[in-house]
Amino acid sequence: MEKTPISAGKLWLVGAGPGDPDMLTLRAARLLASADLVVHDGLVGEGVLALIPAHVERISVAKQRSRHTMKQDLINDLLVRETLAGRQVVRLKGGDPFIFGRGGEELDAARKSGVAVEVVPGITAAAGCAAQAGLPLTHREDASAVSFVAGQCKDLTDQDWSGLAGHGRTLVIYMGLATASAIADKLIADGVSPDLPVAVIERGTAADARVLRTLLTDLGDLVAREKVQSPSLIIVGKVASRADALDCLGAPGVAEKIRDFS
Ligand code: SAH
Repeated sequence: MEKTPISAGKLWLVGAGPGDPDMLTLRAARLLASADLVVHDGLVGEGVLALIPAHVERISVAKQRSRHTMKQDLINDLLVRETLAGRQVVRLKGGDPFIFGRGGEELDAARKSGVAVEVVPGITAAAGCAAQAGLPLTHREDASAVSFVAGQCKDLTDQDWSGLAGHGRTLVIYMGLATASAIADKLIADGVSPDLPVAVIERGTAADARVLRTLLTDLGDLVAREKVQSPSLIIVGKVASRADALDCLGAPGVAEKIRDFS
């Protein structure tokens, strides 16, 4: 049975999309205008934050390289406490709250405490980056399945990605920059062709976004050579050959290989 909310406050877990404020949903924009408190991540674009009216309280729980500003438990506590106090709380997260956004943990915490909670989806980085790059994640000729994985896992070798990349499939890797080389090795060891095209999209949807492309075997080197910065998304699969991308290849003659990959 549904628990009756014990306060008039409400918590919204809201996806802010990949950065460009034009990619907010109308519901997200409306909630930002009417919230009492917005608790946001570092990934949320400046243009989106600019939509928050000046009188609305704002708390950043951004992780910075030098320090972890707030642990997840403390964020959960903050959200629940403020909502129980009767406030309209928007928890604003980059992309979609349920794609590598810990939205599930915040939802659990809210449910456990009996506060009213609602999830507002956002455009996840994969969709935003793919659109900007002209890279169809599925295509009747090239890919009938697409998977999203997190590349940041502590024990990458323990992750079973077999079958997620290769013929007829697209693999989208979030948080994979630091482990790009290990990811390529792992996929190749799993039997994926070293010549499979790979796109790396940096700051997708921003005006200064970069869409770089190479072959799987060169992925780690490309990231180092081009000094690719976070946030970036890695897309592995034949569909990458369809992207409007800059071919950044370490060796001559590989551009043809990307075009001709079958
Ligand atoms: N909830 C978010 C993902 C959070 S994990 C979503 O749905 O998009 C953070 C990772 O998302 C980054 O390390 C990066 O891999 C990816 N990412 C987020 N925004 C991005 C952007 N604008 N361009 C490229 N990658 C992005």
